[in-house]
Amino acid sequence: MENNFHIYNTLTRNVETLIPNEDGKIGMYTCGPTVYHFAHIGNLRSYIMEDVLEKALRYIGYDVKRVMNITDVGHLSSDADTGEDKMLKGAKREHKTVMEVAQFYTDAFFSDCRDLNIKRPDVVEPATNCIPEFIHMIQVLLEKGYAYQAGGNVYFDTSKLEDYFVFSSAVEKEQLQVGVRDDVEEDANKKNKNDFVLWFTKSKFEDQALKWESPFGVGYPGWHIECSCISMKHLGEYMDIHCGGVDNIFPHHTNEIAQSEAYLGHKWCSYWFHVHHLNDKSGKMSKSKGDFLTVSLLKEKGYDPLVYRLFCLQSHYRKPLEFSYEVLDNMATAYEKLVKRIAELKDDGELDEAAFAEHKAQFERHLCNDLNTSMAITVIYDLLKADINDKTKLALIADFDRVLSLDLLAAAERMNASAAGADPELKAYVERKLAERAAAKKEKDFAKADAIRAELSEKGIVIKDTREGTVWEMGE
Ligand SMILES: [Zn+2]
Repeated sequence: MENNFHIYNTLTRNVETLIPNEDGKIGMYTCGPTVYHFAHIGNLRSYIMEDVLEKALRYIGYDVKRVMNITDVGHLSSDADTGEDKMLKGAKREHKTVMEVAQFYTDAFFSDCRDLNIKRPDVVEPATNCIPEFIHMIQVLLEKGYAYQAGGNVYFDTSKLEDYFVFSSAVEKEQLQVGVRDDVEEDANKKNKNDFVLWFTKSKFEDQALKWESPFGVGYPGWHIECSCISMKHLGEYMDIHCGGVDNIFPHHTNEIAQSEAYLGHKWCSYWFHVHHLNDKSGKMSKSKGDFLTVSLLKEKGYDPLVYRLFCLQSHYRKPLEFSYEVLDNMATAYEKLVKRIAELKDDGELDEAAFAEHKAQFERHLCNDLNTSMAITVIYDLLKADINDKTKLALIADFDRVLSLDLLAAAERMNASAAGADPELKAYVERKLAERAAAKKEKDFAKADAIRAELSEKGIVIKDTREGTVWEMGE
């Protein structure tokens, strides 16, 4: 098929034409969550943008196979193999077993994904399913001389590579070689500062809950080996696109490339797609800092998770995005206004095929331009103003929402259903009351908000807080 999809490749630092290994097919890999805690909305920004990337590729006709791992073993609190084991930390905190914690937070992650309309990848594989694959890869790396055993652990020898810092510029390489990262403790077993653990047997976690037999001793895998093995298991030796957040670039993705290419003896993955951080005014937002922002918390505060999705889509994935409730409020208003305009469209007339093709081409052009989602959304506003019939407008919006996944038509339908059948006087009264209630909620005057709900309920009016705001209907 024609290659007109352009994407920024972190490996070459250029926007490139996407040329897959096999014509018309894309093998795509996403680093999955470490399931020891709820996902932060900052991490979910990556998953939203990766979801849009997958859907955009399918939209323009690629046959995509997407694979994601679930990290349920081996990820220490520093990505550079030091600190506490994250899963063990979660288990201790909650007085549960590691596997119970893993199951609970895996389910919680997919529940967040459902709320955000993130499609489940075609293959989802927990790391603990693939221990034999990890052991095999480590054995080959030892045989080939890329790995060594020291102090009971197996390490990857980064000095064996011509270019270990594949993502870094010459200046950055120098800094990385001499500099010491704050979060890295010295590990006397390492031959080189950047060597990393492939298999732990002896470490400070004598009570590690999950251990396996291996030729290198009873132990457990390092974090980085997971992604190399799980991706190769399902996508083979050549992969098209590998995704993650920018904080995965070093050391995680750097290590993945080191061990994969040492193992394979050839280039492994062509394109590296990285999504930038979610920040607040003080810098990067994360689990350990300030308000721990989850999808559940947004819902508790009355936000539709799809408003957060829209917020992410309105910005380019390669730019840091600054979060504030004020911006989210504006986004909620924008979403409601958009849905309202769509709700006014009537599904009649004949589909104008020429107009359909023209707007679709525009939408596609923006997606193909390094996934410019905010420009793609402007095509909806353009077509709403355009001199074409409602039927064509609705058909285009339905088509675009295959990529955007903002539930635009369903939300418009719900809005219409709730407004139908009410007499104008009653409608005006209810709308006034709902506005008062929304204002009270915003002021955090929940007593007043509840009183308004009770007052409406006495008159037989049932209200419901939904994705596109509050809807109401006459009760039975
Ligand atoms: Zn990974």
